[in-house]
Amino acid sequence: MSNESIDYQGILEEILEEVQPFFGKGKNADYIPVLAEVPGDKFGMAVRTIDGREFSIGDAKESFSIQSISKLFTLMQVLGFSDCDIWSRVGREPSGTAFNSLVQLEYEKGIPRNPFINAGALVITDIINSRSADASRRIDDYYRLLSGNPQNRVDEVVATSERNHGFRNAALANLMCSFGNIHSPIPEVLEVYFRQCALTTSCIDLARAVLPLACAGYSSFAGQQILSAREAKRINALLLTCGLYDAVGSFAYRVGLPAKSGVGGGIVAVLPQHLTVAVWSPELDRYGNSLVGAQALELFTTKTGLSIF
Ligand code: GLN
Repeated sequence: MSNESIDYQGILEEILEEVQPFFGKGKNADYIPVLAEVPGDKFGMAVRTIDGREFSIGDAKESFSIQSISKLFTLMQVLGFSDCDIWSRVGREPSGTAFNSLVQLEYEKGIPRNPFINAGALVITDIINSRSADASRRIDDYYRLLSGNPQNRVDEVVATSERNHGFRNAALANLMCSFGNIHSPIPEVLEVYFRQCALTTSCIDLARAVLPLACAGYSSFAGQQILSAREAKRINALLLTCGLYDAVGSFAYRVGLPAKSGVGGGIVAVLPQHLTVAVWSPELDRYGNSLVGAQALELFTTKTGLSIF
């Protein structure tokens, strides 16, 4: 089946029907208390093809908390700094442990396994913070540029909730600092990290913002080359191997696309040279990934016959 002949809208409508039995099987994140208040039956999905067609369904325009999906954009931002070797401070291997786990840091001497677990993302945030007087603003501006939506901003209620319950992230930052792998003052790094996770977005915005990963580094919303084609390829490889934490293998098996999830219930996925797709549904599985979202993406690649495999 060629891409042009696929009835994406019809497929999204079928998916909306077919995911209904999966609502109520997962549970909203509650370790950030305000996320537990989001109605669990929300569902949105958006597809953007690289030739500019857009399809969406359900709550695809509604704002939700970007959470760990922000780690993808901070990584893209740092890889855009030409003089920065991040790979001496962060690994490129799947962790096989929970996104907020501390265990590997001890025996790997403060070097996180990859940039998508919390420890790795804190190092990436530290890099941005050490180069910028207003790192938080810089991260927000970058996301607004890529999504083409100036309305995406930090939800202060979510940021406060994260800050008040950020004990584990504080532990990660302190442990890495003890090994010399956090360079800015810890409270600053944590504050920037909590704020980036509290950015608001929608499925439509996410599908637009990750276009550089489908278009060899080019963003039609920013109207510029954001990354080299080589960096885009590399990030897609990291997403495939590390984007869904310790569920990454079974997600690749079920869906077959590089993707990034967040505990707000969003998942964004990329089919290089073809399309991007974003889904949102707040109830999570036990790995912290959207349960209905993963199901919807599995249906999407099965019905369209499109995946990287
Ligand atoms: N803000 C969350 C945290 O730091 C992000 C985690 C996630 O989305 N997996 O714990």
